[in-house]
Amino acid sequence: MDRCSFCGREKKDTNLLIAGISGHICDHCIEQAHTIVQEETRDQSDFDVNQIKLLKPLEIKNFMDQFVIGQEVAKKYLSVAVYNHYKRLMQDVRSEEDVEIEKSNIILVGETGTGKTLLARTIAKMLHVPFTIVDATVLTEAGYVGEDIESLLTRLLQSADYDVKAAEKGIVFIDEIDKIARKGDNPSITRDVSGEGVQQGLLKLLEGSVVNVPPQGGRKHPEQKMIPVDTKNILFICGGAFDGIEKKIAQRLNTKVVGYTASRERELVENSSMLQYIAPQDLRAYGLIPEIVGRLPILTFLNPLDKKTLRRILTEPRNSIIKQYIKLFKMDGIELSYDEDSLQYVVDKSIEFKLGARGLRSICETIMMDPMFELPSKNTKSLQITKNFARRKLEKADLKMLKAS
Ligand code: ADP
Repeated sequence: MDRCSFCGREKKDTNLLIAGISGHICDHCIEQAHTIVQEETRDQSDFDVNQIKLLKPLEIKNFMDQFVIGQEVAKKYLSVAVYNHYKRLMQDVRSEEDVEIEKSNIILVGETGTGKTLLARTIAKMLHVPFTIVDATVLTEAGYVGEDIESLLTRLLQSADYDVKAAEKGIVFIDEIDKIARKGDNPSITRDVSGEGVQQGLLKLLEGSVVNVPPQGGRKHPEQKMIPVDTKNILFICGGAFDGIEKKIAQRLNTKVVGYTASRERELVENSSMLQYIAPQDLRAYGLIPEIVGRLPILTFLNPLDKKTLRRILTEPRNSIIKQYIKLFKMDGIELSYDEDSLQYVVDKSIEFKLGARGLRSICETIMMDPMFELPSKNTKSLQITKNFARRKLEKADLKMLKAS
């Protein structure tokens, strides 16, 4: 009678009994063995930094160009920073005298919806490293309601499938870093729950240290075993809108301009966007502690999106919104096309309602809803979106609702 050579079960007591050269194994034992293999190999990471596909800065920028429109300065800074960061990981410091390349975290300043997250996401996609986005506003000092700083690494660990080695070479995007700035210029007298304490906590991560990370996050699982994670090689990219920072930049620039060329230079400065002159001291004036500013040495900015850029965003990125609709319709055998003035109309509405790039999607969705609902059941072979069509659909919809979203 055939039996499992591992547990001794008879064939009739198993769902499946597989025969080998000199024995048998049942489905139950296969599953158990599989679990053992998984547990045993969990700590052995097969992540190898040399396998990161590292492109040259120019190639990195070309890659970003496929997904992010405009923002040339930010792309250039990021390309160099990412290239240097991963070169640093591959460096081989042999002796004490050897030059050690220091970590360079990045901070992106620009209005919301100008592509900060998109840039960070695109880089992670290119490098195939673990990536996570966290919102600085949910972070609080340990002991307060909200998430602890360490939880930020929990997310990274999760996105690395708990492969600690891979997570330690990953990228964390911290959004809304400006929201943890100290309010007002004086160091706080009263304790500041969401400001300086959080900045101090964050500093530890940015500097590089071994942090005990709760694998499930939060404080709901007090029994969980902490996982030590070294943040030395994690690249932190911070983003923030820093509303009103232009004023700080202007103050700094104008006080420096003295002498007979002053008025001319001032005029030049005022005529162009202030953000391009952003410097570390402006972040300090805004309320980030000097240590944090020091740990974010790569500082760059994103431009507000003008009409021309918004129009390009509709159709140019590799997975642009319009390309996606065309593909969706093609799957139903319908050829979809857009008149140029219908696209221009979408852009105008997005600007009118101050929705920025995010608004493009909700506006298009409103226009395309009826055709997406009706056409698959009809025998239509083609659909051309005109400006009139777009206007009719949009006027029918409740635009106030769009505005709130
Ligand atoms: P931020 O992080 O600056 O608030 P996001 O990166 O989240 O903004 O941008 C929101 C959305 O707007 C993105 O998912 C993308 O679809 C679109 N978008 C914004 N800026 C650009 C850009 N420069 N190029 C292409 N798409 C953009």
